[in-house]
Amino acid sequence: MKRQAIVAANWKMNGSLSLIKEMISALNSVKLAENVDVVVCPPAPFLSAFAVCAQSESLQANIHLGAQNVSEHKSGAYTGEISTDMLNEVSVNYVIVGHSERRSVYKETSTQVAHKVKATLNAGLTPILCIGESEDERTAEQTETVLASQLQPVIDEIGIDKFIDVVIAYEPVWAIGTGKTASPEMAQATHLFIRQFLANANQIVADKVPLLYGGSVNAANCEELFAQTDIDGGLIGGASLKVDEFKIICSSA
Ligand code: PEP
Repeated sequence: MKRQAIVAANWKMNGSLSLIKEMISALNSVKLAENVDVVVCPPAPFLSAFAVCAQSESLQANIHLGAQNVSEHKSGAYTGEISTDMLNEVSVNYVIVGHSERRSVYKETSTQVAHKVKATLNAGLTPILCIGESEDERTAEQTETVLASQLQPVIDEIGIDKFIDVVIAYEPVWAIGTGKTASPEMAQATHLFIRQFLANANQIVADKVPLLYGGSVNAANCEELFAQTDIDGGLIGGASLKVDEFKIICSSA
């Protein structure tokens, strides 16, 4: 089946207003395949500027704005947090939820991640749910157990039927920012496990959910990764800050 393909840029705590402008004008010249969406997730202070610039430059319709995180709370005394309503006000469509850096540095649990996915969906935004194992967990052959333990709380929280509106990014932690990409075969095998795990609960959902691969994707390896049956695009960190390289990655999807 032809699924929606997505290439998402996670700028993390990098970038600038000038990179926003440069990226928008570069992306406007990319020829994207019909079923491909591009999502740019700059740091929160730049979301509004992206939205304004995208409108003034008439950015092509399949290029979207995403946030890197969101609060599970609606509003209130949560200093430093950003709500789904605020994201909606600045034309955000996607939210990265449960990135491994949020899980490891900010101690987000899978239960909290599940609450964030629910809040995101309830606001009409699309969550990009990140899951992935550490190097030790892969070596100990615990990858599937870890992925299941990250997926199940979300299924329990939102119900499998709502998963149809979720995008999953499989990001082996050992491949993020390290230059150590999973081989296309290894990534495909893990994506197939994730799809089968969802299929055990609902085949229609499993067939529809886009599964992105993330972890040191670059212009040289993207084509082979994206060619795998169960890989529907990528979540790109470092390479998404380089305009020319990101353009190549987008047009390979
Ligand atoms: C990421 O931050 O989600 C990521 C995949 O980073 P990188 O592409 O730099 O490994």
